[in-house]
Amino acid sequence: MIIELKSSVQEARAQEIAQQLKAFCIHYLGRYVLITSSSVKTLDAQFEGETDRFTVLSDDMQLSSRAWQKETRTVQIGNITIGGNTGNTLLIGGPCSVESEGQIEQSAQLMKELNISTLRAGAFKPRTSPYTFQGLGLEGLKLLAKMREKYGLNIITEVRDATHIEEVIEYSDIIQIGAKSMYDHGILKRCGKTTKPVLLKRGFGTTLQEFVQCAEFILAGGNPNVMLCERGLRTFETKTRFTLDLCGAAWMKEYSNLPVILDPSHAIGYAYGVPDLARACTAMGVDGLLIEVHPNPKEAKSDASQQLNHDEFRALTGSLKAVANAIGRQII
Ligand code: PEP
Ligand code: MN
Repeated sequence: MIIELKSSVQEARAQEIAQQLKAFCIHYLGRYVLITSSSVKTLDAQFEGETDRFTVLSDDMQLSSRAWQKETRTVQIGNITIGGNTGNTLLIGGPCSVESEGQIEQSAQLMKELNISTLRAGAFKPRTSPYTFQGLGLEGLKLLAKMREKYGLNIITEVRDATHIEEVIEYSDIIQIGAKSMYDHGILKRCGKTTKPVLLKRGFGTTLQEFVQCAEFILAGGNPNVMLCERGLRTFETKTRFTLDLCGAAWMKEYSNLPVILDPSHAIGYAYGVPDLARACTAMGVDGLLIEVHPNPKEAKSDASQQLNHDEFRALTGSLKAVANAIGRQII
């Protein structure tokens, strides 16, 4: 159950009620909001006078549900906003990993040239083999921060585990939690204690219910700025790397109030399919796309097969703008 206290209820009193109800207490849109387990179905009459509204929910998809908040949340990233009625589709572009200053600077220049606000690249990479490139770590974060200063871009980069979470929070504008870290409660809970936007990727073997419940850990911690990212599921199919769950995306759009971002690059795993998938994703009217692009994909130190080259990305961006415009949205 979600209990919205009257705006006149002060923090100390809100905390007192939260303790009695064994509820989370967050400050959201100008008042205190308490969240109990969804198994609680009635509100004790003694609290009614201090309550504006309470919402009984069928399961623990609560703060992220449209049953509680109808409108898609707005998320502010630097000087841009997505969600709400903005009609914005955020295009996040950049290489899989920061590899060198020269490489990430070429990526930053490409974003600037195409008027794209948000540059992605991993510094702490969750690789499937310990013998491959693991990312530049802190040095990579510093290079990304340098690109932000020089080109005025927003930076998104991933946190792999708790050992470097403070650095990722400090250096990024959006914190990415990767598919393999989606269940890491240390990361989820720490991300609940900041208000920096978080892009939470869906694990490749995760149900939609489990996925939104992971988002709830961040929301219940007090961070309202969470975006859901579908990046492909593991299925019986081996011709493509993963299977992009567009049905799941439709479900998230229908039942969740969190902005939805789609990542066709990691889903298919091969550059040839990324433009078609990206256009299909854009036509769904989602809030954003994440596309990997590298100055020289063949030489990329991670995810080489799926990254577009700069010319392919330029061409794709042009067609995405046309698709977005056709459904009354704009690429930002
Ligand atoms: C990435 O974005 O480079 C990445 C590792 O993604 P995922 O967590 O979806 O595999
Ligand atoms: Mn990648």
